[in-house]
Amino acid sequence: MMLIHSYRWEFCRPPNPGAGHLRGVAHLDGDITAILPQLNRVLRGHLYFPEPPSLTIKYQAKLITFYPRQIAINILTDETEAEQIIRWLRDIINDTWEKRQEIQPRFEVVQPSRMVEILKMLPRTNCGDCGYATCLILAVQINEGNASLSDCPHL
Ligand code: SF4
Repeated sequence: MMLIHSYRWEFCRPPNPGAGHLRGVAHLDGDITAILPQLNRVLRGHLYFPEPPSLTIKYQAKLITFYPRQIAINILTDETEAEQIIRWLRDIINDTWEKRQEIQPRFEVVQPSRMVEILKMLPRTNCGDCGYATCLILAVQINEGNASLSDCPHL
């Protein structure tokens, strides 16, 4: 049985000047919390947090974050690219759901210390005004050199 059948897109453009890319959030019709540790193994996750549940992976210079009922993708060229990625992920999610008893869950939390220091400097309200769904994602972007603290308008 499939876990995810459909999704609804919400797109926004990051407010920082010069950003020519889109950020997309796909709202899912199913809850993927139960298989996030399995997806952490299948997709070789970059950051996994059990509480509140989230998993972030790197894919083609993008960060893709899975929440219980959402998938947020940054640095999208356009809606066509977003659609290609989400269809690929939907297949992986449904396949992982089917095989969840056979896949060893991975609970390992990769948490680079510098990124934690950056996160501490941010308001941690997850308001989304910087164009990213959470402060954690902006912290990851800063850590990777793709953004700066000035991208948070509340500092
Ligand atoms: S604008 Fe600032 S407070 Fe809001 S989500 Fe981004 S980093 Fe967090």
